[in-house]
Amino acid sequence: MPGRPMHVPDNLPPLRDVIAAHDLAAKKSLGQNFLLDLNLTRKIARAAGATEGGVFYEVGPGPGGLTRALLSEGAERVIAVERDQRCLPALAEIAAAYPGKLDVINADALALDERAILPAGTRIASNLPYNVGTGLLIKWLACETWPPFWSSLTLMFQREVAERIVARPGTEHYGRLSVLAAWRTRAKILFDVNRSAFVPPPSVTSSIVQLTPLAEPVAPANLKKLETVTAAAFGQRRKMLRQSLKPLGGEALLEKAGIDPTARPEDLSVEQFAALARALAS
Ligand code: SAM
Repeated sequence: MPGRPMHVPDNLPPLRDVIAAHDLAAKKSLGQNFLLDLNLTRKIARAAGATEGGVFYEVGPGPGGLTRALLSEGAERVIAVERDQRCLPALAEIAAAYPGKLDVINADALALDERAILPAGTRIASNLPYNVGTGLLIKWLACETWPPFWSSLTLMFQREVAERIVARPGTEHYGRLSVLAAWRTRAKILFDVNRSAFVPPPSVTSSIVQLTPLAEPVAPANLKKLETVTAAAFGQRRKMLRQSLKPLGGEALLEKAGIDPTARPEDLSVEQFAALARALAS
């Protein structure tokens, strides 16, 4: 079909058969909601840039639906980290179908030092386990050095979390995660994924979010100080900042940063949070 990327058939069995053959009943404790529709996983792989080649990092490949899609759409190499040992034989079959292109690490992604194993410019693409998704995103956004080791994040989240990531000031979902994401990246929701696409279906709609790192943060600030002020401000989001920021210096801190002490956290731009972080550091 003109205009569509070439799809390389991998001769691997349908994912339902893989799950049955390896007895991969989904475990809730590991956030397992599998995607079995390879057309959908290919759509996600293309959104993540797999047709351009390059190296990809995937957290939680499970039975391998997205892994297969990344490889068949053109990824040169996929490094995947999976906590559930039961999935390893199924993933070994994918590695055999794509010799030298898939490395699987059996580990907890939260504890892994990715910079030690991933080349610079790696793209991260994952259908994240819902229970550790936000923790992983914060880990990738809170890198000590910026720009980070990754060149894009294309990630599945529950819709509500996706809205928090991309929220703008003055809106209901604006919070700590929005400030951190907008400070260092451009973040957008690409498309929604219906619950019925997963086995078993989760209780809510999911969304694919893409984050691209800015060359440098929108305003200078120390990351730890920025986290301290956003935690204090949004920890009491209904209160005026002169009240919620009292333990950090209250009105004097706000004055130093040039911010109205009667403002509430959702009124502040990312630049203003950065100004507060600088005032706290000085
Ligand atoms: N990528 C597969 C798909 O789209 O069908 C599975 C996605 S499922 C939502 C999340 C996967 O992450 C599961 O395979 C689960 O075992 C794995 N997982 C959960 N916690 C993990 C952790 N801390 N580190 C690595 N993998 C984890």
